[in-house]
Amino acid sequence: KCAANYVPLTPITFLQRAAAVYANRTSVISGRTSFTWKETFERCCRLASSLRSLNVGKNDVVSVLAPNIPALYEMHFAVPMAGAVINTINTRLDAKNVSNLLKHSEAKVFFVDYQYVPLAHEALRLLMADSNESSLVAESSVPWVIVIDDIDAPTGIRLGELEYEQLVHDGNPAYVPYQLEDEWDPIALNYTSGTTSAPKGVVYSHRGAYLSTLSLILQWEMGSEPVYLWSLPMFHCNGWTFTWGIAARGGTNVCIRNTCAAEMYQAIDQHKVTHMCCAPIVFNILLEEERRQIASPVEILTGGAPPPATLVEKIEQLGFHVTHAYGLTEATGPALVCEWQAKWNQLRSDEQAKLKARQGVSVLTLADVDVKDLETMVSVPRDGESIGEIVLRGSSIMKGYFKDEEATSKAFKNGWFLTGDVGVIHPDGYLEIKDRSKDVIISGGENISSVEVESVLYKHPMVLEAAVVAMPHQRWGETPCAFIALRKGSLRDIKAQEVREGDLIAHCRKNLPHFMVPRKVVFVEELPKTPTGKIQKFQLRAHAKTLQIS
Ligand code: ADP
Repeated sequence: KCAANYVPLTPITFLQRAAAVYANRTSVISGRTSFTWKETFERCCRLASSLRSLNVGKNDVVSVLAPNIPALYEMHFAVPMAGAVINTINTRLDAKNVSNLLKHSEAKVFFVDYQYVPLAHEALRLLMADSNESSLVAESSVPWVIVIDDIDAPTGIRLGELEYEQLVHDGNPAYVPYQLEDEWDPIALNYTSGTTSAPKGVVYSHRGAYLSTLSLILQWEMGSEPVYLWSLPMFHCNGWTFTWGIAARGGTNVCIRNTCAAEMYQAIDQHKVTHMCCAPIVFNILLEEERRQIASPVEILTGGAPPPATLVEKIEQLGFHVTHAYGLTEATGPALVCEWQAKWNQLRSDEQAKLKARQGVSVLTLADVDVKDLETMVSVPRDGESIGEIVLRGSSIMKGYFKDEEATSKAFKNGWFLTGDVGVIHPDGYLEIKDRSKDVIISGGENISSVEVESVLYKHPMVLEAAVVAMPHQRWGETPCAFIALRKGSLRDIKAQEVREGDLIAHCRKNLPHFMVPRKVVFVEELPKTPTGKIQKFQLRAHAKTLQIS
């Protein structure tokens, strides 16, 4: 850093380079709208300068609630070009969660796509009610609200004074991007589980984002001019860093609002898509609805949940080619990639699919990955059988959680980041996940904190004890299943089993985003516990595996 030739690493340079090298190549396509890299750069300069004139600057958080649209792509550059930090919010959250995140991040600006105006409106109402209660934070805690309208067919919907295209239009095309002094400065803030109770915000640095992007485009062998379909939400770890990566390759971003099979197949045909990322749930969508053979091969990078080998085999039969990655928000997206070995090409397709279903080996930005006994921190033997906790070290691992030292110190042991995932290492060094030690359920690639669902269940007057675990689900991979011990007497008060289950599900519907609601409720006399009173979730998980949804 002291050297005179020190230039901080930042993904912003990918865009500057794309504008110079691939000026007239298509950068973004969405519906009837398309831009070149020169235009995208200019639009980002304009937006960044408008943000500066709203007094947005170093370390300010800019939150966004939007699907995969050009504006969200542009903000991945424009926001840091103003010196600020981009915080993309999961659009599947409810108003309470969104308002909690806006409050925790102290967002200075809140961009809202027209489709999410009702959700944002309610979230802002809750935020204002909250700040009125605590007079100390009052008005400063309410962000500027900027609506993003539909470029192709403006709706005219407003939720404040400002509109995205107007800001772009009014900005300065010759704006000089914010001069970063330290590559460790934050570029993005991504919230992982625990949105209601204790939001865990993972901070990415310019340096971490830059290095993670480079390692992924290299390891996935993207080549030049990829045509990338945005099926993975950009709000998941900044689209696993491909928001920045597509600029680095001078590729084309194909944006679609909905990840339904019809839109995906149409985009693949029309734009000759070469690459896409998605959770394995999207395989089901591509296979079940409108299933068709694709004309030229599409590379898929899948992760977020384990892809069953049979699904990998089936999707490859349609002309897709799958690479499997494993990652976490705390590791700036993918941390392991199931790197393919040429010698495996000779194997039968089902054997190949089985190898691909393993989570793999470290990405280049990780210094080390291991499977350890958590008590002793001793590595387990590499025999494909001995189970331990997956731990990571390296440049792509977060420094910590935003404003939460306690959670940060719990996340590390002896310098290793504890993933909360449990697995084995095979003799060839490839890792395979077997279970999860943390309280997270992954349904259709979305994280559900079981603690969060439990806290809502506990608010029900009849509930004495509640434990929520994952239950296998054919379509979603996993779905929450609640084990409940009712208060004494209440079992007699309520007659039919359906009513009791339906009652608790309805209670959760009222208080949680829909994807977090348990699909199954099992009533027990008492939850299984250790001698120290800790609920034995592993027992409940085993029980849930035997259940069917009625
Ligand atoms: P993402 O947004 O990429 O899903 P999260 O931080 O929300 O990241 O979730 C990370 C968790 O998802 C991991 O700790 C792990 O439990 C699970 N996960 C991610 N990728 C895989 C995979 N390929 N196989 C199995 N589990 C996975």
